[in-house]
Amino acid sequence: MRVAVIGTGHVGLITCVTFARAGHHVVGLDSDDHKVAFLAAGEPPFYEPGLEDLLHEELEAGRLRFTSHPEEAVAGAEVAFICVGTPPLANGEASLVAVEEAARAVALHAPDGIVVVEKSTVPAGTAERVAVTIARERPGLKFHVVSNPEFLREGRAIADSLRPDRILVGAGSVRAFQAMRRLYRPFTRAGATLIETDVPTAELAKHACNAFLALKISFGNALARICELAGADVVAVADVMGADHRIGRDFLDVGLGYGGYCFPKDLVAFERLAERLGYPFPLLREIARINDEAVEAAAMKVAEALWNLEGKRVALFGLAFKPGTDDVRFSPALALARRLLRAGARVIGYDPRATALASEAMPELELAADPYEAADGAHCAVLCTDWDEFGTLDLARLRRAMRYPVLVDGRNMFDRADMEEAGFAYYPTGRPPVLPNLLWSPANGNGSPKRPHPVSTAPFRPEREPLTEPAADGHAILGAGTSGRR
Ligand code: NAD
Repeated sequence: MRVAVIGTGHVGLITCVTFARAGHHVVGLDSDDHKVAFLAAGEPPFYEPGLEDLLHEELEAGRLRFTSHPEEAVAGAEVAFICVGTPPLANGEASLVAVEEAARAVALHAPDGIVVVEKSTVPAGTAERVAVTIARERPGLKFHVVSNPEFLREGRAIADSLRPDRILVGAGSVRAFQAMRRLYRPFTRAGATLIETDVPTAELAKHACNAFLALKISFGNALARICELAGADVVAVADVMGADHRIGRDFLDVGLGYGGYCFPKDLVAFERLAERLGYPFPLLREIARINDEAVEAAAMKVAEALWNLEGKRVALFGLAFKPGTDDVRFSPALALARRLLRAGARVIGYDPRATALASEAMPELELAADPYEAADGAHCAVLCTDWDEFGTLDLARLRRAMRYPVLVDGRNMFDRADMEEAGFAYYPTGRPPVLPNLLWSPANGNGSPKRPHPVSTAPFRPEREPLTEPAADGHAILGAGTSGRR
């Protein structure tokens, strides 16, 4: 089929390459000329495993091209995907300005019978707005509007899109369902489940999925705080919970909390939507509050370990919001960096992929070429993103590089026995810390029999570090302060 994809960002570009790989003829449209030039030359504007190879292959095969001219993309298309960004406004609602622009571009150039598919995450009722916009701009055009929310995970986006576990299609006409079945046939033949429903149900289901996943993460993080106070181990608690198939173990790993371009903004947008529809849903706000608290809890651990933060050097391992991506939008690592800098610390970050975007988003952040350089002379290191390479760090070398051997593990990546053996003061999340005896005492000739670092049992009083900060222009400053573009 002939497919137009409007918006070639994290979702749109993956949509382009996967539909091209499935044998369709795809034109990617983006309003950013710079990005289009890079894409046409086979250079993805962000890191995603496997993307560059697939992009090259599909460009060479002639099934994929890119343009910044709407008529070139839309005029010959049978299906047009809207994959533009829906950033949060200052009040938390999703900005749908780019969605409306995309709808107008379709209206101006589309042939009769086009199926317009919203893939961007949008509030229920948006498809109707898209339909009205197209009908107003081009009275008489025959078209169908479909909701087909995206469930890919950054860092695994290619695998998720080539082999999706489910494809959700909300439509209101037989013709639209037929077109979507044809389009997705290569994927359903390979075993993907196609779920067909009406448009508002599909739109709402996406919000429900993201909110529920965020709920699991925040539940785990709240549990971590309680485990720390009770002297329990949150990982063991999560394992017990996860052994119950009704609960499941996924998304119960605790740490610095969720980030990225989906959960933080989608949760707030869902809360605003619920409010607008007349059903306040305060549980959603609480999920976000607990998530903000996770960053603050890590900052408090650094402060507890170092006493005063003023003038202390803190290394951050990992800046991307999760491993496998260079995306730093709403990254908890950057939220933590801002919090530590505000407290007077010197912060040096390292990430295997995200240093360029992190520096664009936070020019005040110092960056290092590797973890040992980041740790050089540091009073404390914080593991923020669980990239595999951090799991194989040479702990003896790390300890030698640091001024104080103190490690706060924001993802519970390290083994407590290894940290103990390497002589670190080790602060995991939701698990008892490892606190070596530092003080000389006559009782043991080497260390004090008492705990040298008091572990705070005071009630948790976080300084809130929201991932989103509203800006004067009505748009939020993303936690990372970046468009995500190179
Ligand atoms: P992005 O910022 O990476 O990409 C958006 C792209 O749209 C940019 O390249 C921008 O230049 C382009 N654009 C904006 N206005 C345009 C216009 N009028 N015409 C053509 N191009 C235009 O955003 P993203 O991460 O790809 O997210 C897109 C949507 O998908 C959002 O609604 C998001 O919530 C949703 N989503 C994202 C993910 C994810 O993991 N990133 C997953 C599922 C759903």
